[in-house]
Amino acid sequence: MDDRDLYAGLIRLHVLHHAAQAPIYGQEMIEELAHHGYQLSPGTLYPVLHGLEKKGYLKSTQMREGKIARRMYKMTPRGRRALEGAKRKVRELFGELFHESDSGAER
Ligand SMILES: [Zn+2]
Repeated sequence: MDDRDLYAGLIRLHVLHHAAQAPIYGQEMIEELAHHGYQLSPGTLYPVLHGLEKKGYLKSTQMREGKIARRMYKMTPRGRRALEGAKRKVRELFGELFHESDSGAER
């Protein structure tokens, strides 16, 4: 899909939002994002997770359950601050996108 660039930031915010609630796993996030209509392959999502970790927003640990090893991502204090900042921006954008009609700027 060619509008991918537009959604890249939204997907990151989704990931950070969920990581703020509880530690996340890649596969779990793929399923969660699918509920929101984002079809992501592991090849697309994993680089996003790595990127967020590189930025210092998430911290991953390898978890082992029997023979299965999974990487778990936890939010860092820095990630929390970044998410709070982004939420303020999203609220403002949301206001413009959906409540503009009060301001007389509708067409
Ligand atoms: Zn979500």
